[in-house]
Amino acid sequence: MGSRVKPGVVQELARYGGDTVPTCFNCGNCTAVCSLSKDDTTFPRKYIRYMQLGLEDKMTTSLEPWLCYYCGDCSDTCPREAEPGELMMASRRWLTSRYDWTGLSRLMYKSEAFEIFMLVLVAVVVLLLFTLPSNYGFKLLSQHPEALTTVNMEAFAPLHLTHYGDWVVAALLGFLLLSNAARMVFMVMRGSGAPLGAYITEFKEVIIHLLTQKRWSECTSNTAKHWVRHIFLVTGYATMFILVVIFLPWFQRPDANFHWTSLFGYYGTVVLLAVTLWMIADRMGKKDQIHKHSELSDWLFPLLLFLTALTGILMHAFRLLGLPMPTYVMYLIHLMVAVPMLVIEVPFGKWAHLLYRPLAVYLTAVKRHAPARLGAMAPALSRPDH
Ligand code: SF4
Ligand code: SF4
Repeated sequence: MGSRVKPGVVQELARYGGDTVPTCFNCGNCTAVCSLSKDDTTFPRKYIRYMQLGLEDKMTTSLEPWLCYYCGDCSDTCPREAEPGELMMASRRWLTSRYDWTGLSRLMYKSEAFEIFMLVLVAVVVLLLFTLPSNYGFKLLSQHPEALTTVNMEAFAPLHLTHYGDWVVAALLGFLLLSNAARMVFMVMRGSGAPLGAYITEFKEVIIHLLTQKRWSECTSNTAKHWVRHIFLVTGYATMFILVVIFLPWFQRPDANFHWTSLFGYYGTVVLLAVTLWMIADRMGKKDQIHKHSELSDWLFPLLLFLTALTGILMHAFRLLGLPMPTYVMYLIHLMVAVPMLVIEVPFGKWAHLLYRPLAVYLTAVKRHAPARLGAMAPALSRPDH
């Protein structure tokens, strides 16, 4: 099948952080040192060649960028300092914008101002929900003067409304993320010929890699630190997400009384605060390859998580101290950070890799069942193409 050449791809990729594409002279050293590049999935040289030639179809339908975990071995040894690890990162940003049907991701990656604007816009909507003349937030509080002297969350953010809001946010987030993921599957698998049964038998790969990202452990360098802390981070925000979306009636207490769900809340908070601070410090230190180049989306990922956890625990502390107004205000600030993060960053920004990466491992496994692929693999064994 022929490939359409799109002029201007190299310039476009530079806006996603991939400004070293022309530097590569295709020696293949990066692919040779990459411990994850094997068998029928060889990278990053081949994908960088697609970038240089502007082969947009091949770039869009390739899964290789998602199979790279940015250990940085290739960048360390590239004789041209073409930063192949960062080029894989840039291609993941580019692919995220291609999967997204709304076009928002593309705009956000191309303009930092637009990304900030979108986050602020959602934060303002949350603010207005609590401050506009309605029966919610400060207006409701004015009808319960006793809640100004004793903390009573029911008088500020009634549980039934908050829980309803949670479900709306979760449904919106799920719809955006899953519809973009469906586009990814369609783009990648269209015409692959993979049998339906393979989609079912290989589905376990999505679950395994969603929960463990275990391919990361196969990288030869920097593995333990990044992989283990990433697993902790996943357990932290998964715990908080489940608490808020499913267990909110128990988790959001009207007063300072203890409930066992708080223990999980403490776990999630400690993990999120510790790991995100560690990630921010590493990104500022720029020691590892993965932290040498940072786009806005790379900063927003740990920063918003950190602020969400910090405002959440501060709100809890104010409630325990019996300080009504600081509790309500901090609760509002907490939502003004958490909601934009969930509806903007998760489906359109760096967070989306949490789904795309396991999906890529799964689709790679499914593709291996395609008859054309099976036939092509035999000669490929004697004719390496990397
Ligand atoms: S990125 Fe560097 S190591 Fe990889 S093919 Fe290009 S020049 Fe060679
Ligand atoms: S960063 Fe690591 S995993 Fe990614 S292509 Fe380079 S060597 Fe392979």
